[in-house]
Amino acid sequence: TYVIWLVVCRKCPQVHVGPVGHQIQDCYGTGSQRRNSHHSWVRGSVNDVLIPIESYHQFDPFGWRVKHETRFDYDRIPAIVELCIQAGVELPQYPSRRRTAPVRMIGKKVIDRGGFVDGPKPHRSEDCISLLAELDTFSNQQGQSSTPSNVEELAEKTLKAYLNVQRGVARLMRKYTVKTCGYCSEVHVGPWGHNVKLCGAFKHQWRDGKHGWQDAVVDDVIPPNYVWHVRDPTGPPLRSSLRSFYGKAPAVVELCVQAGAEIPEEYRPMMRADVVIPDSEEARLAA
Ligand SMILES: [Zn+2]
Ligand SMILES: [Zn+2]
Ligand SMILES: [Zn+2]
Repeated sequence: TYVIWLVVCRKCPQVHVGPVGHQIQDCYGTGSQRRNSHHSWVRGSVNDVLIPIESYHQFDPFGWRVKHETRFDYDRIPAIVELCIQAGVELPQYPSRRRTAPVRMIGKKVIDRGGFVDGPKPHRSEDCISLLAELDTFSNQQGQSSTPSNVEELAEKTLKAYLNVQRGVARLMRKYTVKTCGYCSEVHVGPWGHNVKLCGAFKHQWRDGKHGWQDAVVDDVIPPNYVWHVRDPTGPPLRSSLRSFYGKAPAVVELCVQAGAEIPEEYRPMMRADVVIPDSEEARLAA
């Protein structure tokens, strides 16, 4: 038995799942730093596996547009939750306008939205535990280091849930528009994006902080966060000379597989599950 570590690089966004960091020299560093060097691994948390993507909660996504000046009138909640609310999930703390008549549009122009209706004041999560606080398992994990009794079963369940959420989000996105910024990772659930000028993209000051909205794909809402696949977590660390034999997987998938879940059929090619990895001696001769 071994402990599955999750490590993140201090110099670049890479994440690695495994008992030790890998030795593949694919660190891009920060800014002008030299490329293709070793990573500097430190311990990561659950937010490095599932990258949290938040968006504004709107009482009516077809109503008032979120402006820079009015941004504090809206709660920031996980984009997936906002998508589910718009699709009909009732969460008392995040009310949503339910229409009896559909919004009539011609192209992108709204002909009839049934008038503007002000929603109740935003919930403001300070007074109780917010959804995000519940998801912040980094602080949770500090205290409880006990491992669940059946890790393999938990891994299977987690992986199944992840694939399920991914499929569900894909289906919902066919009906409900989700926008993403072409310059940063901001996501907006609704037909037009918002006007908050907080685009954090590098060298985009000339855009006055305005986001550049385009249609989002599932990966924008649930970033896959690819990591190298470690076939044998008890073996030697992954190395540069063998990188052409290694596959990749979303961090969650890799975590579950290392914990004993079976590789899902659709990830086998990407994870290069059927490629024979030569032992280091053969690799040395081949290099
Ligand atoms: Zn790095
Ligand atoms: Zn509350
Ligand atoms: Zn942006």
